[in-house]
Amino acid sequence: MAKNSTPTKAATSESVAASNGHDANPHLPSGAQPPRIDVTSNSRPETSVPSVSAYAVAQSQLDKVAESMNLEPDMLALLRVPQRELIVHFPVVMDEGNVQMFTGFRVQHNTTLGPTKGGIRYHPDLTLDECRALAMWMTWKCALMNLPYGGAKGGVIVDPKQLSQRELRGLTRRYTSEIAPFIGPEKDIPAPDVGTNAQIMAWMMDTYSMHRGYSVSAVVTGKPIAVGGTAGREYATGLGVTYTTRALLKSRMGQSIEDVTVAVQGFGNVGSWTARTMYERGATVVAVSDVMGGVYSPKGFDPRHLKAFAAENGTVVGYPGSDTLTNEEVLELKVDVLVPAAMEGQITGQNADKIQARVIAEGANGPTTPEADLILNDKGVMIIPDILCNAGGVVVSYFEWVQDLQAFFWDESEIRRQMERKLLTNLEELTGVVVRTGVDLRTAAYTVAIQRIVEATKLRGIYP
Ligand code: NAD
Repeated sequence: MAKNSTPTKAATSESVAASNGHDANPHLPSGAQPPRIDVTSNSRPETSVPSVSAYAVAQSQLDKVAESMNLEPDMLALLRVPQRELIVHFPVVMDEGNVQMFTGFRVQHNTTLGPTKGGIRYHPDLTLDECRALAMWMTWKCALMNLPYGGAKGGVIVDPKQLSQRELRGLTRRYTSEIAPFIGPEKDIPAPDVGTNAQIMAWMMDTYSMHRGYSVSAVVTGKPIAVGGTAGREYATGLGVTYTTRALLKSRMGQSIEDVTVAVQGFGNVGSWTARTMYERGATVVAVSDVMGGVYSPKGFDPRHLKAFAAENGTVVGYPGSDTLTNEEVLELKVDVLVPAAMEGQITGQNADKIQARVIAEGANGPTTPEADLILNDKGVMIIPDILCNAGGVVVSYFEWVQDLQAFFWDESEIRRQMERKLLTNLEELTGVVVRTGVDLRTAAYTVAIQRIVEATKLRGIYP
């Protein structure tokens, strides 16, 4: 994904000083400086999308499945576009006193099965199109897991690493205020995604609650446990990737997780917990990468040590005793299982024929393009699709929402048991479709999900 330059704090204040000056303001106490208004902003034209548009990929995946399942054209037209889209432009007072404008989004793809659910992404390359794609994938994922939700996604065009904690909190509070009329426990429930975390969810929950005048913990999931979060949410997505991969390795390849080598692209929440939970079950994690690059060791890493190293150094690169690789090299390693757990559009028509893994476990959303799917399916690679593979996160988010609504909290062993049951029951149903129809796992997963939404749409009817 091409990175665009984001205005840095230093560049921003220079441009502010040059453009605004500080004339005395009669409405401010004497000596107080008015916030300076930036001429620059983090808004970006929509033309800065990566070369493979995630939205085009999501629509093309849907078109392909619609054809294979003979979906009526009316239903396809309804599902091909998001139901609601919100774009917000909002100011944040930065540490240096200037005001910087930011742009954020929230897209709700489909509300047929219930309120929408989906992450909040803070990333400098975020686009409306990307949110549309991610919201659509969330709709399929929730339906596949039999959760009473549609899909949503949102976020802000920002590199959170460029902000201080105070600025990050200010940005989160103002963004939450801007989208507040659009979200709520019965409407749309955000969660963490790339660049956001439990602390950001706590600020979102607090801001929404302040507007209401009482605590509304069910408005977001992925919160810290102290403010209504659930046990197990932090590692749920990675553990779900491991449960699903282990089950499919066994049932379709007759292989145990103890016998496989693994490479993981992306070492954030999903990548690090996938690496750790696979390692704890006996897999050999030979390579891991983050945005700075990758590390390789044929003997395998202990991901807990790697995580401590990355926390201290800001990257896994340079881990003692490892060889350094590029992100491309990590994807192309000869391993049993490759886990893309970073961003969408990583495995494309350009590099698919260089992939040597026998299994691709999609920890990230949308990491494989339809063109790459064709090449990999021809090569006999088993792709565990994102909407199945990384669904552990939204399943445990659902448990968090249910617990918040009931103000009754379950213990961690109950959560793990329920999560494994939900993932494996749905996996069984999907494997049945694969056996009956001979389609690949992605097509089967989409078919099951879309059938559920279409049935509900027909029962409800088209309003009015
Ligand atoms: P994160 O911000 O915690 O981590 C992202 C990781 O990817 C970081 O290590 C970052 O350095 C790395 N990265 C970013 N760009 C990269 C690139 N071009 N090449 C290699 N590495 C790169 O994010 P996360 O929450 O772990 O999410 C990762 C993916 O998983 C996303 O696609 C997200 O939508 C998906 N996902 C997340 C959850 C969740 O619960 N957090 C649930 C389901 C799916």
